Amino acid sequence: MNEYSIESIMSTDVLSVRPDLSVIELSTLMSQQKYSCLPVVDAGKPVGIITERDIVRFLAKTEGDLSFMSETLASDLMSRNLILIHQEQSLLDALVVSQTNKVRHLPVVDEKGLLKGIVTYTDIINVQRNILESQTAIIERSIKHRTAELLEANRVLQEMSLVDPLLEIGNRRAMEVDVEYTHDLSQRYQDCYAIAMIDVDNFKLYNDHYGHQAGDIALQRIAKSIKETVRSTDRVYRYGGEEILILLPKTDLIGANKLAERVLRNFESEHIPHEKSSYGIITASCGLAIYDNQKVPSETSWRDVIKLADIALYAAKKSGRNRVEMQQLCA
Ligand code: GH3
Ligand code: MG
Ligand code: MG
Repeated sequence: MNEYSIESIMSTDVLSVRPDLSVIELSTLMSQQKYSCLPVVDAGKPVGIITERDIVRFLAKTEGDLSFMSETLASDLMSRNLILIHQEQSLLDALVVSQTNKVRHLPVVDEKGLLKGIVTYTDIINVQRNILESQTAIIERSIKHRTAELLEANRVLQEMSLVDPLLEIGNRRAMEVDVEYTHDLSQRYQDCYAIAMIDVDNFKLYNDHYGHQAGDIALQRIAKSIKETVRSTDRVYRYGGEEILILLPKTDLIGANKLAERVLRNFESEHIPHEKSSYGIITASCGLAIYDNQKVPSETSWRDVIKLADIALYAAKKSGRNRVEMQQLCA
């Protein structure tokens, strides 16, 4: 799906509105043009988005008061939590971004942040379906190569899967797309984010003593506990083996440290017995890395931030495990 570009499927004849348009004009426009969603644009750049649902919610609140409707502007009503996509990004990126942020419309911008079009979740799913359908048709026509092509299609499908089947959290592929996207946003909007790398302590000893199957069950409990602890805006992924990565968008050092401590303490309170650990129960260590756009060299990449979280994790292991250590990128 990566070969297909966003530019090839986005709608370019997008109707956008100015922030100072009144709600009366807005709702007239929406009903005449039959648009379910309108980007709000200021000097060519998207600053918000308004959906039919926003209008309906507003109308319910005003109870038919027309003066209130003409005084209220698009900028009062629009959702400012705008999820954008770059025109050079891939469709897979767009799929991940729209799924993880639960948005159905993604305004597309160029490198200057100017609105170029809009792509919907349905557009992306349709392309995805077309790809799969055309692959199936090819496979059916060519009986000779059927087995090889099915294997290839399977590989592609697996690659497109974004969830780890054992732990039911994002997989490494999803993590890479999400972290890169968050990093790009933080660079563009001078924001910060944090990466928490969590590694179960002495897990080889646990497997050796209790068996691999018990190890799998313990890992599932750990992942569940982490998912229940983090905030809805945070994302949890299986980084590999018994390592779990949490992406904390818009989070500074103090916030990230609080959350990491809470994660470790909550799953310590699961009290999963571990006879071979000096703590007597399963514990984990956490390495934190903070990316703050105001404080780092511009060439810093998201991979550098993950590397730093790994270094912090190593320090947590070295200083006794069951604790949080952190690293902050400096210029
Ligand atoms: P440390 O405290 O230094 O992290 O020690 P550790 O024993 O946890 O680290 P090590 O890297 O030596 O071992 C990791 C173990 O995690 C070994 C591997 O078999 C186990 N593991 C990784 N993935 C899974 C899994 O999906 N299921 C089970 N049961 N075990 C796993
Ligand atoms: Mg490990
Ligand atoms: Mg470990």
